[in-house]
Amino acid sequence: MSITPLMPVYPRCGVRPVRGEHCHLIDEDGTRYLDFASGIAVNLLGHSHEGLIKAIQEQAATLMHVSNLYGSPQGEKLAQMLVDNTFADTVFFTNSGAEAVETAIKTARAYHQNAGDAGDASKHELITFSNAFHGRTMATISASNQTKMHHGFSPMLDGFKYAEFDDLESAKALMGPNTAGFLVEPIQGEGGIRPASQEFMQGLRDLADEHDLMLVLDEVQCGVARTGTLYAYEQYGITPDIVATAKGIGGGFPFGACLATEKAARGMTFGTHGSTYGGNPLAMAAGCAVMEAVANEEFLSSVREKGERIRTRLEQFIGNYPELFELVRGMGLMLGIKMKVESRPFFVHLRENHDLLTVAAGDNTLRVLPPLVIGDAEIDEFFDKLSAGAASYKIPEPA
Ligand SMILES: *Cc1c(COP(=O)(O)O)cnc(C)c1O
Repeated sequence: MSITPLMPVYPRCGVRPVRGEHCHLIDEDGTRYLDFASGIAVNLLGHSHEGLIKAIQEQAATLMHVSNLYGSPQGEKLAQMLVDNTFADTVFFTNSGAEAVETAIKTARAYHQNAGDAGDASKHELITFSNAFHGRTMATISASNQTKMHHGFSPMLDGFKYAEFDDLESAKALMGPNTAGFLVEPIQGEGGIRPASQEFMQGLRDLADEHDLMLVLDEVQCGVARTGTLYAYEQYGITPDIVATAKGIGGGFPFGACLATEKAARGMTFGTHGSTYGGNPLAMAAGCAVMEAVANEEFLSSVREKGERIRTRLEQFIGNYPELFELVRGMGLMLGIKMKVESRPFFVHLRENHDLLTVAAGDNTLRVLPPLVIGDAEIDEFFDKLSAGAASYKIPEPA
């Protein structure tokens, strides 16, 4: 047999972490990496955060899982915290980001199709955007125009039309009698840390209002304090109808959620949706600990302040290497460095030669996604490693 026990769908690198300490990962062989990847925007509170560990340990020792056949004091508590701190009136808990987006898609369709006389059963299409990433399930790959994710998995699910990201006219051109709504990442993550413009987001909101469509945001990566507000939509001054959230929400404990207004959730009635694990007490305990830590102005303003500081320093820094770097973009601590050369070899160089972990992304962009709890020492260490990395970098010859 030559297949590996772990199904070989990931080209895993040589780093094999066995322990996490605050903003560092320690590898099997003892190497200490500065973690500015955070498990892809997940470990908001860094590694081995005392409050999060305590919440999970205590809940694990009390009650881990019961299913959704029973009442959920733990789920009600976290749902109420999310409702109190966001646009949402109601929450469905999932186990991952893709499932949160799936729930969001179903909620948008059901808004039209399960609303009796108020609805319109023909409305099922969501307009999505170029270079989007919404997850790896059938519906979520179908929602993205990135054909590399479709290959080998045909047929795609019907009901998605792809417009150009950040181009309102192209979205308008795809609207028709079957349109149910828009699905968009306010800041594209995998696509290269590309924030949508204010006009675009406001334009989608206006179109949705005019035509009774659902504005669905995928905030799986940019949500949960990452950009310096609890959710990124706040910075656009718009109110969505439905939001998918995950990644940071458990601080490393895997779960997600679909948030919706009462109106948007009108089709999600008894029996229409479900999940065995979704919202189990253990996940809810992790979520409450994360919300307690991040959903306050002191924490959020510290994220904005650190984000600004890193961004200013990054902009100065890239000026020293005009042959390598083009620009810095993003919001809060969701930052991207767009390179003029292929970014992946540089990302590998930082990891292999300077013990600095970042995340590669589309559009030759290096994602800088530190834990939100970084301090001055980690910021300085980041710039030391990045500067040394840029100084020692030799652009590979084209193959
Ligand atoms: C990561 C991500 C997802 C998928 O989340 P999973 O937990 O991997 O299923 C969906 N949308 C966006 C924007 C993401 O960044």
